[in-house]
Amino acid sequence: MNKKKTILILPGDGIGPEVCKPAKNILESVSHIYDLGLSFEEALVGGSAYEETGIPLPEETLEAARKADSILLGAVGGHQWDELEYQYRPERALLGLRSELDLFANFRPAILSKHLTSSSSLKPEKVENLDLLIIRELTGGIYFGEPRGRKEDKPVAFNTMIYSQEEIERIGRVAFEAAQKRNKNLCSVDKANVLEVSVLWREVISDLSKEYPDVKLSHMLVDNAAMQLVREPKQFDVIVTGNLFGDILSDIAAMMTGSIGMLPSASVNSENKGMFEPVHGSAPDIAGKGLANPLATILSAAMMLRYSFGFEEAASNIEVAIDKVLAEGYRTHDLEGSQDTQLSTDEMGKKVLDNLKN
Ligand code: NAD
Repeated sequence: MNKKKTILILPGDGIGPEVCKPAKNILESVSHIYDLGLSFEEALVGGSAYEETGIPLPEETLEAARKADSILLGAVGGHQWDELEYQYRPERALLGLRSELDLFANFRPAILSKHLTSSSSLKPEKVENLDLLIIRELTGGIYFGEPRGRKEDKPVAFNTMIYSQEEIERIGRVAFEAAQKRNKNLCSVDKANVLEVSVLWREVISDLSKEYPDVKLSHMLVDNAAMQLVREPKQFDVIVTGNLFGDILSDIAAMMTGSIGMLPSASVNSENKGMFEPVHGSAPDIAGKGLANPLATILSAAMMLRYSFGFEEAASNIEVAIDKVLAEGYRTHDLEGSQDTQLSTDEMGKKVLDNLKN
């Protein structure tokens, strides 16, 4: 029996609780099948936490997150909280968790299942067998830089994009090591023709590459990278970039996989403790309707088993079970498919579970 591991589930808002439920069922099931010793706790986060406690990231939740071995998050946000002051907004909880737990490395794989080639927004030949990994720096850059704010006397607002050599080096190492385990091609994306911070980024990544001679490093400006991702996405193996550029590029990559409902993510610290969450948001337009695709969250749970706990067999069996369900033609409403094989969120979760058990 493995040592007991506690997973904190933070369902959050909108479709968050709907997609966390099947993912938790699957984690419970694999824990039973493989004797993984997983146990679960749940806490409030985002808008639902604000409604209960007046803040989006209550101390109780933060404490539970610090104690847990890993975290599965649904999504936060919703239009009812859009007008709140910055520190009360649901999204603040994500930034708070990332910085408090030092989750500086965000892994966003964009893998297109061969059964979903027709759901991609690009031509099948452009995306067939697509498998790229975007590594986004998550605790620095313009989302956290100080000073930020508004001028008192004028309608002027400002943020600061800042990166230190240490911050670039540690995300760079993660990226080179990830590339070593894949096809050994790393593309570093920046805006070094305009931004001073990108000039340093490029220098540090280039210096680091001397320690990884087996990895082929290239540099690309972010505007070109956005274009190249849509023009010829299969040219990329691993992309490493800062917080803001990574946020945008990974959403572009999302549409190549058929739906944002298919994209998992992992945010980890230097001890591989992490928060695992779908890339999508709380989707208020479909919340409560049973239309949400739970596969991104289930795939995030698989990433947790792999990255945080090293339970490779359990992780890959979840991925195989998902693939089987897609091969059988089952789809949620966001994926192209026939009406006869359209499933609700819970039904899709149950199909994956059934395949896993068989
Ligand atoms: P979104 O990702 O919530 O939704 C974008 C579109 O994709 C919507 O049409 C939605 O219905 C669809 N979609 C998203 N997830 C889906 C799923 N699993 N299955 C099927 N369809 C899905 O982005 P948005 O509309 O820009 O943002 C809504 C709220 O979510 C905002 O408050 C935003 O701040 C928040 N948000 C949170 C996170 C997060 O928690 N990590 C990320 C992005 C946005």
